[in-house]
Amino acid sequence: MFPTHTQPLVTAPAETAILALLLAEGPLSRVELARRVGLSGTAITKAARPLIDDGYLHELPPERTAPGAGRPVNPLAVTTDREFFLGVKVSADALYAVVCDLRAGVRATTGRRLGADRSPAAVGALICDSVELLLSRDPRHRKHLRHLGIAVSGDVDRHAGRVRYSVLPGWQDVPLAELVAERTGLNVIVENDVKAITSAEHWFGEGIGTEHFALVTIGAGIGSGLVVNGRLIAGAYGVAGELGHISIDPAGPRCHCGQTGCVEAVASSSAILARVREATGLTALDFDGAVDLARSGDPAAREAFARAGRAIGTGIATLVNLFGPERVVVTGEGLDTYDLLGTQIREAYAAHTFKAAANCPLTLRPLAWEDWARGAAVLGIQALFP
Ligand SMILES: [Zn+2]
Repeated sequence: MFPTHTQPLVTAPAETAILALLLAEGPLSRVELARRVGLSGTAITKAARPLIDDGYLHELPPERTAPGAGRPVNPLAVTTDREFFLGVKVSADALYAVVCDLRAGVRATTGRRLGADRSPAAVGALICDSVELLLSRDPRHRKHLRHLGIAVSGDVDRHAGRVRYSVLPGWQDVPLAELVAERTGLNVIVENDVKAITSAEHWFGEGIGTEHFALVTIGAGIGSGLVVNGRLIAGAYGVAGELGHISIDPAGPRCHCGQTGCVEAVASSSAILARVREATGLTALDFDGAVDLARSGDPAAREAFARAGRAIGTGIATLVNLFGPERVVVTGEGLDTYDLLGTQIREAYAAHTFKAAANCPLTLRPLAWEDWARGAAVLGIQALFP
C-alpha cells in the first residue's frame, strides 16, 4: 500500500472544528467560534493556541463592536501564506497545474497540451515538469509546500494512489502517486476529478455550510459527486454517484459501459452528436456543427439536445429523491449548450422529484480548467485534517 497521507495537522475535535470554520468562512471572533462549535470561550482559546504557535492562525487587530460594548475582540484568521498546495488536473489531451494558498486562493498557474505519447511514464514526467516550473517561480512556494493533489477522470483508487482505469490510452492500474512522489518528494494524493471538484466546492464554493450536497457535471461525460453528512461519498467499491450510468430507458441506446439506456448514452456530447447525425443523415457533422444546426432551428437537431436535457433532468431527480441534498450544482462544458437543453433539464427535474425533495435548487456554475486544478489542490488542504 502506498502511504498517501502524512500526519494531519489537527487531530483534536475542537482544533479541527475551528480550523475548518476559519478556512471556509474567513475571520471569526472567539465568541462566534464558541457559539458555532458549541464550546466555551476558554476552550476555543486553548484549542487555537497550538495553531497560532505553528503559524496557521493569527489574531487580527482588535475591533470594538459598539461604543461601550466592553472588551474589544480580536478575530481569529487563517494565515493563508503559512502553507501552499499544488493541484494538477489531467484531462484527455491537456494538463493544468496550480499553486493554492491555505484558503484555496490560486497563486500561480500553468498548462500544456499532452504530447503524442500519453503513457503513464510520459504524463507522469509532464506532471513533474509542471510542478518544478511552478515551484521555481516563487521560493516561498517551494519552502512551504508538502502536498500535491492530482485529479484524473476515471476509476481512481485514492487510498492506494492508483488510477485503475482512465480515458488515457494504456492507463490500467497505474501507481501514479508513487510515480510522482518518487520524483518530486511530495506527498501525492490521486483522486477522481469529479470527486475532487465536488469536495472543493463543498469546502470553498457553492457547497459551503451544507451537510448534504451534490455536484453534477455534464458534457463529454455525465457524472456526479455526493456529500452526505458533510463527507464526500467514496463508495464501498470506489464507485458512487455514477449519475451517467443510471439506466432511464430500457429501450434506449447502448452505453459504452455495456448497459442499455444510461443517461450518458443519451446525453453525453458524443451521444447527442450521434443522434443528430442519424436523424439528419449528415454523417460528417462535428459537435459544433450539431450545435449550430440546433441553434438555427433544425427540428431534428433541437430534439436531440432536448432529449439529452430530459435524460439529465430525470437523472438529477433520481439522485435528489435518493439522498435529498440541500443544493445541486450543475457544471461542466455541457453548460455551453444550456440554451438548447436547460429548459428540458428543469422540466424533467420538476416532473420527477418527489414532494419536498423538489425544494432542492439547481445552481449553474461554469468552472474553468483552473478550478478543476484548484479542486486537486484542495485534496492537500484536506490532508491537514483527520
Ligand atoms: Zn453506462
